[in-house]
Amino acid sequence: MYHVSFNEDAGSERDREEYDLRQTAKFVEAASAGFVEDLRAIVGETRVMTDAAAMAAYLTDWTHQFTGEALAVVSPIDAEQVSQIVKLCRAKGVCIVPQGGNTGLAGGGIPSPNIPSIVLSLSKMNAIRHLDEAGRTIVVEAGAILQVVQNHADDHDLLFPLTFGAKGSCSIGGNLATNAGGSNVVRYGNTRELCLGIEAVLPDGSIFNGLSGLRKDNTGYDLKDLLIGSEGTLGIITAAVFKLFPKPLTRVTAFLSLASVDAAVRVLNRIQDHTGQAVEAFEYVPQPVLAAIEKAFPDLKSPLAGPVETGFLLEVGSSRAVDARMDESGSTQLSTETLAVLEELMEAGDVLDAVVASSEQQRAAFWRMRESVLESILKYGASYHFDISLPLANISKFLQDMDATAHELGFETLTIGHFGDGNLHYALACPDRERWQSLPLEQAKARAFALLKSLNGSFSAEHGIGQSKLDVMLKLKEPAQLDAMRAIKRALDPDGIMNPGRLVPDSA
Ligand SMILES: Cc1cc2nc3c(=O)[nH]c(=O)nc-3n(C[C@H](O)[C@H](O)[C@H](O)COP(=O)(O)OP(=O)(O)OC[C@H]3O[C@@H](n4cnc5c(N)ncnc54)[C@H](O)[C@@H]3O)c2cc1C
Repeated sequence: MYHVSFNEDAGSERDREEYDLRQTAKFVEAASAGFVEDLRAIVGETRVMTDAAAMAAYLTDWTHQFTGEALAVVSPIDAEQVSQIVKLCRAKGVCIVPQGGNTGLAGGGIPSPNIPSIVLSLSKMNAIRHLDEAGRTIVVEAGAILQVVQNHADDHDLLFPLTFGAKGSCSIGGNLATNAGGSNVVRYGNTRELCLGIEAVLPDGSIFNGLSGLRKDNTGYDLKDLLIGSEGTLGIITAAVFKLFPKPLTRVTAFLSLASVDAAVRVLNRIQDHTGQAVEAFEYVPQPVLAAIEKAFPDLKSPLAGPVETGFLLEVGSSRAVDARMDESGSTQLSTETLAVLEELMEAGDVLDAVVASSEQQRAAFWRMRESVLESILKYGASYHFDISLPLANISKFLQDMDATAHELGFETLTIGHFGDGNLHYALACPDRERWQSLPLEQAKARAFALLKSLNGSFSAEHGIGQSKLDVMLKLKEPAQLDAMRAIKRALDPDGIMNPGRLVPDSA
């Protein structure tokens, strides 16, 4: 088993040097034993990349925080080729790092330096195999880009609801491997809930075909659910079958200024009750983030004039013809009802102000603003990002306590969130990168994690563990769960060739 998560306290400098030498020797051994030629024999000359410049994009993550090394980047075209690659790698002691769109935010798709590895890119396995209109399912290959799948469903008047800022470049395989969330989870659930089955290549090279698309299949341990969220550590997902939904015939998209975060919970529940659970997104975008967006992208303006301390992007959608029916003023039933409930909430003092998108163009502008948040925060200065979740009722307490601590310690805070499902992206930030170096980040992190624990929160909501949260995983995940994860990893991948040093931390 390869170990990559060096424990700085435990390992001496000499241990590390010896380890590096051993790994370098393995690189040379694997390369000299004709490994690359064997790969070419499986997938063809042009589908194996070894040139450093060509491989660079696959060896650095989206945040430019993680870089790695690889013997080759290999792009198979079907599960059979993936299977042969896995068997070859196992025989030669070479590790495999699956990669889709490389938009992951936890460094999970980047190989470690000094471990003989290949990047197995799914980018050439991107076909949409089948759309079943009657059964409302779609079978797609792992490398298909999320937005392409959304568009394909849309062409058939159906909805594939998974969506978020990276939709134009992330892949379905990556979505499954990280159990991605996004902004529609409040209505449709995360990737796991959308998936009915997968096809995957296991670490021994066997092909698991679970694409029947059955909605009921109680035949023992669910390998599908084990592979979803496994971040490439238990096998390579090559295709999947997903549920599709009726496409909303009408939508109401609004930007709201709310009285407080507590008020937001009441507003969400009231709108859910009033519209028959039609809320598709309820995204927290408070004033400091709006200011950061406007600074980073001057063409993107807050939809409401003046400061919006507690801003929310609300989207309600309905596929019921009755909701899409227009009255004489040109307003749909859904719009009339949503406005009525917003007025009621204004009278109660929970909603301070609201603007409803009056055209598809305006709706797109609201969403462009929301989807540029991450880039805006990264442009703002130095920052550390928590991807956390909390019970809705505890979000306000977390924000109050954590903001107070963070400000006391000298940080600014830039928080956004898929609030409707309890997910916050909470960033500690500082516009001055030099001053950032002197701020007590570890103290702030310790406070945040302690607070999360006391409020029944999770330290990792939707981006996964990758390599960035291994230390937190070791500290905060229950030992019984960690032991079970390690046992599963050993059972399915006894040689430790699948994405080593990611997701499952070594024992302390
Ligand atoms: C601007 C921006 C916004 C984002 N917003 C969100 C958001 O709202 N919600 C959210 O959940 N995420 C979000 N992300 C994170 C990221 O887009 C998701 O994690 C996405 O699911 C990753 O897909 P990918 O194809 O890029 O995977 P990659 O980055 O290529 O890989 C991610 C992990 O999955 C593994 N993997 C990839 N493909 C396979 C496969 N076929 N089989 C087995 N393992 C595989 C990799 O080894 C790695 O561990 C955002 C990222 C960006 C850049």
